[in-house]
Amino acid sequence: MICPECNEEMLVIELDGVEIDLCDTCRGVWLDEGEIELLAGLDESSDEPFVKALRDRGAEKRTGNRKCPVCSKAMIIVEVPLDPPVEIDRCPANHGLWFDHGELDAVVAAAKNTEVGGFLNKIFGADTQT
Ligand SMILES: [Zn+2]
Ligand SMILES: [Zn+2]
Repeated sequence: MICPECNEEMLVIELDGVEIDLCDTCRGVWLDEGEIELLAGLDESSDEPFVKALRDRGAEKRTGNRKCPVCSKAMIIVEVPLDPPVEIDRCPANHGLWFDHGELDAVVAAAKNTEVGGFLNKIFGADTQT
């Protein structure tokens, strides 16, 4: 898969049996649709703010500059209601989510004590080892 930020081929790393794509150049991470819930052990009815924002069409802000690495459609910026809020990119055809390296840092910091935060810390750890 090609990084939507710098057009480099991304690395595939396996985390709890789920394959995720990591860009070795910009340190961004691509998650296929449903992988975030899978990795975090959450289901669709979870009250985790992060997961709710992904389902909530009202969290969509605007069309971004990056294109989905699967279908090449312009991705939608989605605001995740953390403190401070974090904006991530989502494919309009639900192929998945894109996290900039800095965005991942912010989410890890804000969600440190949640299940999602724990899982993001695992990604982050894998990130720093490569
Ligand atoms: Zn990249
Ligand atoms: Zn797509």
